[in-house]
Amino acid sequence: MSVIVQKFGGTSLADTDKIKNVARAVVREKKLGNDVIVVVSAMGHTTDNLIKLAHQISEHPSDREMDMLMSTGEQVSIALLTMAIQEMGYSAVSMTGAQVGILTEETHSRARIVDIKTDKLKEHLGEGKIIIVAGFQGITAKGEITTLGRGGSDTSAVAIAAALKVDRCDIYSDVEGIYTTDPRVVPTAQKLKEISYEEMLELARVGANVLHPRSVETAKQFSVPMRLRSSFKLDDLGTLIIGVNEMEIYKPVTGLACDNSQVRVVICDVPDKPGNAGKLFTLLAKYELSVDMIIQSYARSHDNTNDIAFTISKDDLTRFCGFKDEIMKLMNPSNIHIDEDIAKVSIVGAGMIDRPGIASMMFETLARENVNIKMIATSEIKISCLVEKFNANKAVQALCKTFELDGAEAAIVKGTLPD
Ligand code: ADP
Ligand code: ASP
Ligand code: MG
Repeated sequence: MSVIVQKFGGTSLADTDKIKNVARAVVREKKLGNDVIVVVSAMGHTTDNLIKLAHQISEHPSDREMDMLMSTGEQVSIALLTMAIQEMGYSAVSMTGAQVGILTEETHSRARIVDIKTDKLKEHLGEGKIIIVAGFQGITAKGEITTLGRGGSDTSAVAIAAALKVDRCDIYSDVEGIYTTDPRVVPTAQKLKEISYEEMLELARVGANVLHPRSVETAKQFSVPMRLRSSFKLDDLGTLIIGVNEMEIYKPVTGLACDNSQVRVVICDVPDKPGNAGKLFTLLAKYELSVDMIIQSYARSHDNTNDIAFTISKDDLTRFCGFKDEIMKLMNPSNIHIDEDIAKVSIVGAGMIDRPGIASMMFETLARENVNIKMIATSEIKISCLVEKFNANKAVQALCKTFELDGAEAAIVKGTLPD
């Protein structure tokens, strides 16, 4: 008998009819003779609404109480889905992260999972029960409730799948698979039959919010067989996320993502001397701010100063502003400039390794569209450009054409010839 983990996101659980639809998808898997563990998110926009509620009470609510509040969303879903499955005549039990024993670090709001106890899960499965687990949440060794970061239910599902070495982890969502880019932004985006862990990880990191990056990281680390599929089209197998395919790679770029959730900070006219960058980023680390792109300009000869620019998440902007004065005192810049009207457009593909000219194709495309590039960052399989927000859509559409990510051509993914 196979053990399957199914994960359903908020969009698949937005109302009670959708919860009943999910119950049918779960029972269908059980009827095939499988043991089933289901991981769920909060219903629809519940988490956003809980955050709004908190901000009606407090401008800076404490991280501990935010986790206490946000973790309640998933608890509603587990109880309702379990009831719906029981109504269909099947034995099911709901469990919070703490009841399962999903142990996390002490950090609130973005805790990492350190261990998952499997004894209670195995006990319930042994009794033939379908288990419904609250995603996105865990508990620390000291008994504190934590959450894993927005979109973290994907990571709960994959981590449970890894801990139990299950046969399959199916992430169900409101799309039919992983597309070359967000199909809601580019309706001609093409569905991929498969994508490597590495490419999916880069795509998720650069803003394809279809999967939580840490879920892909965990799947890759523990070789969890993972699929992204639709909760509304159960016969569609969606997209398989797999290890590196040995076959020839036909296209240099597999996918594209656009991230509107960052802001750019420029520390202007910093004296060009050893240690300044170190001081700055040590301070950012002290306040637990994650930085994405970083650029230091060439030192200007007339006054021996340069600019240091970096991007951070919009969610961290208030925290950053809280210690801006400390940076002024520490580094003595002429100004700290914050630019919120930016977007990061990235292309991702294992096929760009050892293939010259991909960066120039990207930059030429943006130039033809008169899109100015504010920052550039690269990795072995990714190129990101920071552009002005009003240019983001134009950039995405043009890059999709250049790299054949829309239309029939896009169906040629690594190692997969078109039918
Ligand atoms: P869930 O509630 O199931 O967790 P999410 O909203 O987190 O769903 O993720 C699904 C959404 O991800 C889709 O509705 C789609 O708009 C978006 N998305 C972004 N990039 C992609 C992509 N490359 N392929 C598919 N969907 C994408
Ligand atoms: N409910 C959480 C969120 O909205 C976790 C998740 O959906 O994965 O971010
Ligand atoms: Mg999600």
